[in-house]
Amino acid sequence: AEYADAAAVIFGAPFDATTSYRPGARGASRTMRAESYSIETYSPYQDGDLTDYAIYDGGDLDLTFGNPARALSLIEAQTAAILTDGKLPVMIGGEHLVTLGSVRAAAVCYPDLHIIHFDAHADIRDTYAGEKLSHATVMRRCWELVGDQRIFQFGIRSGEREEFIWGKDHLWCSRFGFSGLDDVVRSLAGKPVYLTIDLDVLDPAVFPGTGTPEAGGVSFMTLLEAIRLCAGLQIAACDITELSPPLDPGGIATATALKVLRELLIAILARQNRSTTREQT
Ligand code: MN
Ligand code: MN
Repeated sequence: AEYADAAAVIFGAPFDATTSYRPGARGASRTMRAESYSIETYSPYQDGDLTDYAIYDGGDLDLTFGNPARALSLIEAQTAAILTDGKLPVMIGGEHLVTLGSVRAAAVCYPDLHIIHFDAHADIRDTYAGEKLSHATVMRRCWELVGDQRIFQFGIRSGEREEFIWGKDHLWCSRFGFSGLDDVVRSLAGKPVYLTIDLDVLDPAVFPGTGTPEAGGVSFMTLLEAIRLCAGLQIAACDITELSPPLDPGGIATATALKVLRELLIAILARQNRSTTREQT
């Protein structure tokens, strides 16, 4: 759709400067865009089609690689502009640090913001390699913005002991999968929610192309069910992060990321009735 008519605005945040192990996530949005022509717009799972909704692709931000703070400011400005226009921001990372920029904008717009976080990793270190801004600290920085008991983590299966101890006092964490998600969704009814999906929450068998793979992840179908549960909430903004195309020679992870994005868009737009459809415009 054209921007003016769009209910949702996709943009890429091609940034991976703090990736700790294997970089490459900066190429995710570009590769996903190129490969997107290979997948159907129709979802048999939800009996919905991307063409039912007005979605605008804003392309990729031009981010400075040597300067995470500057990159985050540019991401924040982009998300703020989309929110101001009453549209749903849908960001494609990049490494997970990019989420902080987008959450900053959402937290300004929605002071009561809550965050649902799908990931293999807790991402709540205070610093990583001496740095405050890292994909391993991103949810700690988000916690500083939204406060205690506002972050709900699922699928977590990796982190330092200190992270798990600290997390017990400050946020809600479901290890290994999505148990408890239905109760969390019930408790967040009517509240603004930022949904951030670090795609390494998936098992490396279905999502091998990522910088820090962790065995023991969830299946695509399990993630899809979790996304559909969350879509009933008031989603203020959302993102998917950590696809790394150079680590995905078989293209499996890219195809999976595209399918996650398709299902995420259809699930949210169908539930929020943001159907500024092409027919109407
Ligand atoms: Mn992460
Ligand atoms: Mn992760």
